[in-house]
Amino acid sequence: MIPIMRPWLGSEEGAAAAEVISSGWIAQGPRVERFEHALAARVGASDGIAVTSCTTALHLALIVLGVGPADEVIVPSLSFIATANAARYVAATPVFADVEIDTLNLSARTIERVLTPATRAVILVHQGGTPADLDEIHRLCDPRGIAVIEDAACAIGATYKGRPIGGHSDLVAFSFHPRKVITTGEGGMLMTSNPDWAERLRRLREHGMNMSAAARHSLTSVTIEQYLETGYNYRMTDIQAAVGLVQLGRLDEIVARRRRLAERYGSFLDDIPGIAFAKDPAYGTTNYQSFWLILPEEFPVTRNDLMARMLERGISTRRGIMAAHLEPPYATSASLDLPVTERLDRQAVLLPLYHEMTEEDQDGVMAVIQDSARLAPGRTST
Ligand SMILES: *Cc1c(COP(=O)(O)O)cnc(C)c1O
Repeated sequence: MIPIMRPWLGSEEGAAAAEVISSGWIAQGPRVERFEHALAARVGASDGIAVTSCTTALHLALIVLGVGPADEVIVPSLSFIATANAARYVAATPVFADVEIDTLNLSARTIERVLTPATRAVILVHQGGTPADLDEIHRLCDPRGIAVIEDAACAIGATYKGRPIGGHSDLVAFSFHPRKVITTGEGGMLMTSNPDWAERLRRLREHGMNMSAAARHSLTSVTIEQYLETGYNYRMTDIQAAVGLVQLGRLDEIVARRRRLAERYGSFLDDIPGIAFAKDPAYGTTNYQSFWLILPEEFPVTRNDLMARMLERGISTRRGIMAAHLEPPYATSASLDLPVTERLDRQAVLLPLYHEMTEEDQDGVMAVIQDSARLAPGRTST
């Protein structure tokens, strides 16, 4: 079986987790703090607030911005559904914008089409690890007082204009789910360069408390904590953070390997007419969290048939990124004009790509594409 993704974990992660367990302090504590400092330094943000997931990071980002019921939040429909759901968590209205076919990302052009006087924030996604064009989006949003949140769930290790994703906006959310580039099992981190927000975010993830449980534990005098506002339990554990620190040490190697394998896919796909696929944009580099391709309408087999042909040979693929506006919770927003998103929903496929994938594995995937491309037009496998 060739999976779509397999996290690269070694005995070091196991040893780091075991060390936390034998230390006796397993909830949020010193290792979470170390992980936050390490990632903030790595991406060039002043603070990182570790939380349970990228989804909860996006929720807290909207809370510190004060986004609420009267507000609209522009999101791509072409994203994991958590991006749109985050707007619903604060009772705001998600407004779907279309994406660019070459990056699968929002752009100033697609955002501008759905701006209204009620637009308070944009959550842009660096889809599959391909960076969005941040400068042009900030140029559109900043003068209008519209906040830009980066959903960088997929984009750790990607760069924009020579600097890492994570330090370009005031609120950037990462994910450490195993489907992403580095993992802590579940987990996320919200990067910010606003110290007031950082303080409030730390409080919000811990029930609104004015001091962390870890800080209270290390005090020598009796201190009674206060609960300054309604908060959440969005804390990461020290076990997760210890694993995350080891994974962060592997990030460069993981990204380099993914880029090498992606380049191999690319040089092969270049020879098949009409297929478009994930590439670096002119202004940055992708980590290839996902390797997507878009089949031309005239391809001899349909997208779903191609996926079936792969599965017959033990190769796992995924439809391209989902389109949230086509799912039941957003059915009422369905009469939208999102032609690129809907085309991608029909024609895109994600290919397997993981650190320990061999060239032989990859050749197997490419052989199925090549065979399918050679079929007479109109013929399918079923
Ligand atoms: C995976 C993903 C999320 C959700 O991340 P979790 O850490 O699982 O909550 C959000 N947005 C995008 C674009 C994603 O790919």
